[in-house]
Amino acid sequence: MLLDKDIKEQLAQYLQMMEGDVLLKVSAGEDKVSGDMLGLIDELATMSSNIKVEHTQLKRTPSFSVNRIGEDTGITFAGIPLGHEFTSLVLALLQVSGRAPKAEQKVIDQIKNLEGEHHFETYVSLSCTKCPEVVQALNMMSVLNPHITHSMIDGAAFKEEAKDIMAVPSIFLNGKPFADGLMSVEQILSMLGSGPDASDFADKDPFDVLVVGGGPAGSSAAIYAARKGIRTGMVADRIGGQVLDTAGIENFISVKYTEGPKFAANLEEHGKVYDIDVMNLQNAKHLEKKDDGIEIELENGAVLKSKTVILSTGARWRNIGVPGEAEFKNKGVAYCPHCDGPLFEGKDVAVIGGGNSGVEAAIDLAGIVQHVTVLEFSPELKADSVLQDRLHSLPNVTVVTNAQTTEITGTNSVNGITYIDRETKSEHHIELAGVFVQIGLVPNTEWLGDAVERNKFGEIITDERGATNVPGVFAAGDCTNSPYKQIIISMGSGATASLGAFDYLVRH
Ligand code: FAD
Repeated sequence: MLLDKDIKEQLAQYLQMMEGDVLLKVSAGEDKVSGDMLGLIDELATMSSNIKVEHTQLKRTPSFSVNRIGEDTGITFAGIPLGHEFTSLVLALLQVSGRAPKAEQKVIDQIKNLEGEHHFETYVSLSCTKCPEVVQALNMMSVLNPHITHSMIDGAAFKEEAKDIMAVPSIFLNGKPFADGLMSVEQILSMLGSGPDASDFADKDPFDVLVVGGGPAGSSAAIYAARKGIRTGMVADRIGGQVLDTAGIENFISVKYTEGPKFAANLEEHGKVYDIDVMNLQNAKHLEKKDDGIEIELENGAVLKSKTVILSTGARWRNIGVPGEAEFKNKGVAYCPHCDGPLFEGKDVAVIGGGNSGVEAAIDLAGIVQHVTVLEFSPELKADSVLQDRLHSLPNVTVVTNAQTTEITGTNSVNGITYIDRETKSEHHIELAGVFVQIGLVPNTEWLGDAVERNKFGEIITDERGATNVPGVFAAGDCTNSPYKQIIISMGSGATASLGAFDYLVRH
């Protein structure tokens, strides 16, 4: 029995929402995974009379496809969609049965109008929290457009096929690499040439407040502004920001536990309650102060005008900047242990960085991989002592301090790391399959150039009202010189910047 009592109870409620019959075409062999998959399918079929089962031969074994009666939808699960993919299975069953997917009509129309054959395959790990969003987006596209198919492939069940996949989700389109990492349905559509262009923004009236960035800081700033009844816009490369890459969140006070993607979805939902003109999947590339306000130019060429601007473009993983890092990105060089750790099961890896995130990553990885080497540049680890104690208690972790990483080596993928012992000046090479870079964050502010004052780390300098040195331009969150980078702090500073901008509007 693969499903425990609680999950079965929940599942039973969901299956009652099916609107028609669904045919599962099952391709099984004699192996253990096939046996477990058949067990799952049997449980599903006994729980709902809407679920029919037919045995067949599919491209991969073990796998099963989810179809309407008499019409293949193109959705296939290769391996067993449990773990984080269980929701993807439930949604596929409901949507194929006839339940309308939860998406804006504009997005549904874009999917239906996509021309050409699109056959997607996504490699996932069942512990990856970013993967379900991609799987569910592509499954929804398959349900809505008969020329789109999608297979989710669990890398752990198809080890040989997935041996070169070192970051998940890894998406292929018509047999060729398409994208890696978290993507929303809007981003996928935009990559397929179905996104908005400059002409879609040409007629916009000037905003009172234009927020640049859609993470916790930007969302909070936009909601605070919209609640004042002023004309509010938000431009974001991806709504949610870093939270989308976060697994468990336990320190957002009043919410005991949640997960990053859920938190990000809640941010978006809360924003929808208010009149905010959200321009998702758009990158700001230039800011200019004019006599009558501020202009923000987007990468698609559109120019937006606003009386005030709140910069909340957050931060991204800092690169180590040694030879091999860029070359082997997603081919052994990784940044997200929660997502990509399982792909290194039984292998040797290194973590570069001995701060809290590096040591947490090493502890996490030690439970999956064969051996972890932590390389710290300084003479000692920087992580909290409770984390260090836990790390030192693990039998398969080695800590090397005073280690200056000089190269990540490999051929098609990573095969080792070279470092210099800063004390003895001797060079060392360790053979391993993966390198997790955990050396902090860098603010997303390069695009501002000299338009706004920044400190030597590139962080925007703000005062206690969130104001920058440019009148009418405010900033909030991880892109600023705030000493602490946390969700709750970003949200607070987003609110501060928004109230600061409102004050500015009242006075000018
Ligand atoms: P971000 O979340 O970085 O959002 C920035 C936004 O700006 C994004 O929407 C981005 O797409 C957009 N953007 C960037 N450049 C542009 C541009 N040029 N044009 C348009 N849009 C742009 N904090 C906690 O409190 N608890 C935790 O448990 C926790 N865990 C974490 C785990 C991980 C793996 C990481 C990476 C961070 C974690 N944090 C945690 C930190 C927390 O996520 C950040 O402090 C918070 O997300 C910062 O919010 P922000 O809005 O300032 O920036």
